[in-house]
Amino acid sequence: MKRQDIIDKLCEEEYLQKEEWIELLDGYAESDREYAARKAREISGLYFGRQVYIRGLIEFSSYCRNNCYYCGLRRDNEKAQRYRLTEEEILACCEKGYRLGFRTFVLQSGEDGWYTDDRMAAVIRRIKAQYPDCALTLSIGEKEEDAYRKFYEAGADRYLLRHETADVRHYGMLHPPQMSLAHRKECLRVLKAIGYQTGCGFMVGSPGQTARTLAEDMMFIRELHPHMIGIGPFLPHKDTPFGKKERGSYELTLFLLSLLRIMEKNVLLPSTTALGTIAPEGREAGILAGANVVMPNLSPVSVREKYSLYDHKICTGDEAAERIDSLRGRIERIGYKIVSARGDWKERR
Ligand code: SAH
Ligand code: SF4
Repeated sequence: MKRQDIIDKLCEEEYLQKEEWIELLDGYAESDREYAARKAREISGLYFGRQVYIRGLIEFSSYCRNNCYYCGLRRDNEKAQRYRLTEEEILACCEKGYRLGFRTFVLQSGEDGWYTDDRMAAVIRRIKAQYPDCALTLSIGEKEEDAYRKFYEAGADRYLLRHETADVRHYGMLHPPQMSLAHRKECLRVLKAIGYQTGCGFMVGSPGQTARTLAEDMMFIRELHPHMIGIGPFLPHKDTPFGKKERGSYELTLFLLSLLRIMEKNVLLPSTTALGTIAPEGREAGILAGANVVMPNLSPVSVREKYSLYDHKICTGDEAAERIDSLRGRIERIGYKIVSARGDWKERR
């Protein structure tokens, strides 16, 4: 089958066989990517009408007990600069974000043991008491079901937990043996069952990734039907085991964003910081490929450089929440509009 016919099929049936995915992704041409982007834009236009949702990202701790091979915050990186925001500092970020027009806050961190389940629940309760009209998203890794329930009852609305890769062997190449794909997937199922708007996702071009492992990712996403999907290029961090690996492809990231939009129609799909890092107009390109969310950085300026997942992560330009007006202008120049709405996931019409 021609690649554009496979894309049409994905659009109609919202499903492809593994071999079709591989055929589509292996050696695609620029024209295929443009074809997919056009379709993806039509679909995002239909569901979101050229509106782009914003989320204020608060990176509240750079401590992590895990040792993912790709990540600059990994436990064994002794050069990582560790910091942890207090509850008061987190609330100050929300206050600033609220003034700037944010109605979703995303609390992200490494898996930091100091923030026990009770301390987390307390922060969540305070944020939701102070900002009842805002949505709260967590991105704090793998926890027990009880903890996920506690956070949900405290008021958390959404949870981002990228599955990273849906291929077991590939998962083992990215993580030490203590971590498992089975547990990651189980967490995602539990989160969804509890009632969170749930997000999975993966890095594009992580070491060991192939068209076959990407096919697994797409099929896993199709089966999970998440409310949100976060993807961005893999970018090396010099003080990790993958410090000398090649970065992921910008074009492939854009192509996959389009394919995700075509398959998962109404999903909330961010144009990520990593995409903005790899190319100066990456965020705009992501929107034009079908993304409909951006997540400016709301962390205190003094800690931003310390939250170093990968080298050269942008944090002071237009991805800074305080420069939202500049970002707004850039998004308007491509014909889209940043809106202040909470931007919850909605059932398909
Ligand atoms: N500790 C939490 C949240 C912080 S990490 C967790 O792991 O879920 C958030 C995401 O950053 C990860 O899911 C991963 O996909 C991404 N990330 C980490 N290192 C990266 C790198 N070197 N390049 C690109 N993305 C990376
Ligand atoms: Fe920790 Fe998340 Fe980085 Fe893994 S990806 S080392 S869990 S911060």
